[in-house]
Amino acid sequence: MQLKSQLPVASLQRLCESLLDEEGTVTADLLFELDTERRPRIIGKVSTDVSVVCQRCLQPMLLHVEDKIDLVLVTTDAQSKALPDRLDPWMCGEDELLSPADIIEEQLILAMPIVSMHERCVDVNKAQVLAIQKQIELEPARKNPFAALVGLKSRTEK
Ligand SMILES: [Zn+2]
Repeated sequence: MQLKSQLPVASLQRLCESLLDEEGTVTADLLFELDTERRPRIIGKVSTDVSVVCQRCLQPMLLHVEDKIDLVLVTTDAQSKALPDRLDPWMCGEDELLSPADIIEEQLILAMPIVSMHERCVDVNKAQVLAIQKQIELEPARKNPFAALVGLKSRTEK
């Protein structure tokens, strides 16, 4: 059985805890099948783009997260322990309903980098100065935004 789905990042609350906002969509492509040894396997991939805070400049950054999924569905600890090391178990009790959203969320959380940083951070102060200069250039007819500050300064000096 194949499940292709898109779900809002906002629906994955645990993932959202490490994000700057809840914008975005997760794309998941999962295949549920029995493998050659008759084990129930969940194979596929998940990807999304989310907003996080850069740990170097503390500015927002867009982060692409994607991961391959390859899990064996198990219902007991004994089944989980019996798996070869190369296979990861996904535990789902006999009377529980398998939740694809939980699998997707867990895999995305695991795929998140421990520390997110821009490849090259923009120098924030320099960027702000340039933005102010540009604003002044674009609106020459408008009053100099610093005129009020100058007035304030001369008043306090009196
Ligand atoms: Zn940065």
